Amino acid sequence: MMRLERQAQALLARSYYQDSAQPWERGPALAGTVQADVCIVGGGLAGLSAALELARAGMQTVLLEAQQVGWGASGRNGGQALAGYASELEPFERQLGRDAARQAWAMSLEALDLMRTRIRAHRIACDWTDGALTLAVRPAKARALRAWYEHMQTHYDAAHLRWLDEAQTRAQVQSERYVAGVFDPLSGHLHPLNYTLGIARAARAAGVQIFEGSEAVQVQTAVAAGGGKARVRTAQGEVRAPFVLLAGNVHLGRVAPALARRIMPVGTYIIATEPLGAERAAALIPSRACVSDNQFVLDYYRLCAGDRLLFGGRVSYSTVSPPDLPATMRRSMLRVFPQLHDVRVTHAWGGFVDITMNRAPDFGRLAPDVLYLQGFSGHGLALTGLAGQLAAEAIRGQAQRFDLFARLRHRPFPGGDWLRTPLLVLAMAWYRLRDAL
Ligand SMILES: Cc1cc2nc3c(=O)[nH]c(=O)nc-3n(C[C@H](O)[C@H](O)[C@H](O)COP(=O)(O)OP(=O)(O)OC[C@H]3O[C@@H](n4cnc5c(N)ncnc54)[C@H](O)[C@@H]3O)c2cc1C
Repeated sequence: MMRLERQAQALLARSYYQDSAQPWERGPALAGTVQADVCIVGGGLAGLSAALELARAGMQTVLLEAQQVGWGASGRNGGQALAGYASELEPFERQLGRDAARQAWAMSLEALDLMRTRIRAHRIACDWTDGALTLAVRPAKARALRAWYEHMQTHYDAAHLRWLDEAQTRAQVQSERYVAGVFDPLSGHLHPLNYTLGIARAARAAGVQIFEGSEAVQVQTAVAAGGGKARVRTAQGEVRAPFVLLAGNVHLGRVAPALARRIMPVGTYIIATEPLGAERAAALIPSRACVSDNQFVLDYYRLCAGDRLLFGGRVSYSTVSPPDLPATMRRSMLRVFPQLHDVRVTHAWGGFVDITMNRAPDFGRLAPDVLYLQGFSGHGLALTGLAGQLAAEAIRGQAQRFDLFARLRHRPFPGGDWLRTPLLVLAMAWYRLRDAL
């Protein structure tokens, strides 16, 4: 295992989701040569979603997962399925124009519909709950949130969003930290690992061959492989297929260096409290909507089944985890909810998100037969599902929607292999400072 994988493995050990996961029958490791129509690398939501769509369309689909299905970000995230993009719509507007940005916004709402539809169609027990709040912690941040809200009302189909003044915000969340907010009834939250396993089960039932413990170590286009089909090699096997889809997030690394240069791994962390009891939970967030703030380094939290609070935040641009993670995260939680001082933290975990320079998603092609999905920038729980569908459409010859994203230009992070992490840490420290002031 490489350094980042070892860290990710260690961060999984005390995950609440692992403790409350539904059973999953592990797939075999790939051995020998397998022929397929499509080979997908990565068993997170992006890869699984594409696999499900392709198999349902009758294509022989093989999925390779280095660890276990849901091991990456998809099985350990904050569970907040949100409309929109980490970058907001600005890169779409600036690079592609308002019409394309409107389509991108509509597709992010479609991603939420798709999620609801799949939960129903495949009977996935993952505790879906409607509603999301974005809150501002001080007047300057409230003004920024209001400007965003008005921009969305003026230029986008966003009439469902509701502005909350200070009193209305306080009625939503029992904390004195916030001065304003926006309520989004179309977004929501769920148990991400059980959702991911549910999609994996549906994919397998549709005919996808899922190989686990099967790290792709080399990907060759048909041209590089000497014509015929593309090849994906693992330690003990090989898949030959006319199409390959790379959906390995930050862990893909050396298999596709050209992609790795365009994203950076950033650590983010979550704790779970012991059950709070129904009454205390209902007082904390009466609507049970999930919550995040609009700080540069944001807090994100929600009540989950069993009335625990899952509280996420902190980021590590160096990828080194904070010391004494449960205590560090508990301090962040008490800053928002000092009344929880007597509540025990039972779990603390984390993982890595794949940020791009402009925080917009990075979908495209390394070659006509090798597509990729990456760069969800910490905002991929809902979007990965639609991204997989778009990649499946593109592989089947309908690339229009996929190409809307593929037209976005992305720059590699500056600094090369050695300096890009220190440079990112420095740049982000500046943004944090600006927020703090
Ligand atoms: C702690 C945390 C909190 C988050 N909170 C939220 C949130 O609340 N809302 C939100 O929208 N987003 C959130 N995110 C982001 C979201 O989880 C991701 O954007 C999304 O899950 C990415 O899915 P994916 O399929 O691209 O990648 P992953 O789920 O990471 O899957 C990639 C898979 O590919 C496998 N892989 C990599 N390389 C290879 C290889 N060479 N061979 C075979 N397999 C390989 C990996 O093992 C991994 O399982 C969070 C992320 C983290 C880590």
